[in-house]
This record gives sequence, C-alpha cells and structure tokens, in this order.
Amino acid sequence: MSERIFRFAPSPNGHLHLGHALSALLNRQAADRFGGRLLLRLEDIDQTRCTPDLEREMLEDLSWLGITFDGPVWRQSERFAAYGTALDRLQSIGLVYRGYLTRAEIKAHVARLESETGRAWPRDPDGAPHYPGDASVLPPDEINSRWTNAAPFALRLDMKAALDQISGPLVWMEASAEGADLANTRPAPIAADPSIWGDVVLARKDTPTSYHLSVVVDDAAQQITDVVRGRDLYAATSVHRLLQDLLGYPAPVYCHHRLILGPDGTKLSKSAGDTSLRALRAAGMNLSGLMRRIGLA
Ligand code: GLU
Repeated sequence: MSERIFRFAPSPNGHLHLGHALSALLNRQAADRFGGRLLLRLEDIDQTRCTPDLEREMLEDLSWLGITFDGPVWRQSERFAAYGTALDRLQSIGLVYRGYLTRAEIKAHVARLESETGRAWPRDPDGAPHYPGDASVLPPDEINSRWTNAAPFALRLDMKAALDQISGPLVWMEASAEGADLANTRPAPIAADPSIWGDVVLARKDTPTSYHLSVVVDDAAQQITDVVRGRDLYAATSVHRLLQDLLGYPAPVYCHHRLILGPDGTKLSKSAGDTSLRALRAAGMNLSGLMRRIGLA
C-alpha cells in the first residue's frame, strides 16, 4: 500500500484540552506504526474566534506533548480560493441554493409547525432543525428584497438533489482500534446516511466556506489516507462521504476514537478551562501524568 498520511486538525479558537492531546497522540502513534506521515492543519476559517495568540499557544501545547509533524503547517484561512472552487463545482451541478432565514426565523417557524401538527420537526445530529426553505416562511417580496439588499445568507446543499446524484449506497471504512493498534485491525464498512443533516450549510455570505466543505477539500488536497478523530465527529462523516462522492474525491479510512469525558460525564469543551493542557500544566501535571489521565500510559 502507498504511504499512509494522517492529520491532526484542531481549530485555534480556544485552548487544547485532554481530548485534543489524546487525538494528536493517537494520530502520531498510528502514523509511526505505519511508517507514515502526520500533518498539522489549523482549521481557522472562523477568523473572529481564531487568533494568532491562540494559534501560538496551541503550537506550544503540541510541542510540550512532544508531538512532531511531518511537513509544513496548513492554515485553512489561506485556502479560501480552493474551497471556492469546490463550491463552484457543486453550484454548477445544481446542488447549492441561497437561504436567507436567520436562526431565529427557523426556530420560530419550526416551533409553530410543531405546535400546529403535534409532530417533531427533523433535527440534525447537532440538534439544529432541518432547513425548512425560504419559500415556506417568507413571502416572495421579502425574499426578493433580501436578495436586492444583500442581506446575510447561507449557501446550502440541496440534500435531496445531492442524494439523487450519487450512484449507489455511500459507505465508509471504519477502523475499530486506536493508535498503534490501528495497524492490526481490518476496517469495516459503515453505511453513511447524510440525509440526517438536511440541507447543510456549505458557506455563508461572510465566511465563504464551512467546516464540512473545507475539511473534505483539505483531506483530499493533502492526500489524507487515514482520518483519526473523536467520536463526536462520527455523524459528520456521513456528510463528508457525500461531499467526497459529489466532488470526485477518494475516501480516507476513518477511526473515530473514544472521547475523554469530564468529571460530570460530558464531553470536554474548549471553554471548560480546567481541563486545558495549559491549566493542567500550570497545576503541576507532567507528561507521564497526562498519559495516565488519558489512558495511554
Ligand atoms: N477542526 C475540528 C475540531 O477541532 C476537527 C476536524 C476533524 O478532525 O475533522 O473539532
């Protein structure tokens, strides 16, 4: 088999926590075991929340972990043109539309529908209601006026049209073992179900891409063969497989690893400061303590 290429792809919009440490270390172990490469990609498309200071601190945390990367650091903020090209392709095959509804308008509309019909409106795996479509909420005049007045909008994937364009069932290969053990398992096929996401956002007026679009474009551009990331992104893989298929990209093998949970049993977040690597270091945790805490000792 050709060279295996892994990536660690954090967003510098907060501090790295124990979960990121686990993810980065599992990627490094797997890349080493395969004699492959590990690339670092900073997912900084949100230029208001990602700052140079957070990026610098993130790089410091990674070097404290002793993790090295093979090849230059990629920054998604430098790759908007590539995402634009992919978006144009999806647009040219009729799969993208502009939606003007704000989050508040969607929420109010869905609440009204649910109380009228007594039935739950579909929600995506992140809990956001599926997009109801502008025409079912706004009068035509209002849609025209938002267009003319350059109101904020989202470019959305027409999920139904996209699913009509793919040639057969979508699957991805999932490896069930982590780190160096990845080399000893045979990945198994998982059926993708992108319809659970509804018409996902591909770009916005002010951010010309989205997480889903840019991650898929960059995994292909960096020729990533293995995506090792947390289980919290398992459902996102369905939409990634769909975009890969529509854009003619190869599918990497996926490994969605265990998550490190906080004392209350919930997933760690970047805003929960006490599990950040910086805070733990300041409180005296050393590398071997960290390895024990994340189950890698
Ligand atoms: N940037 C994403 C995050 O920090 C990870 C993306 C990925 O691994 O696909 O959660």
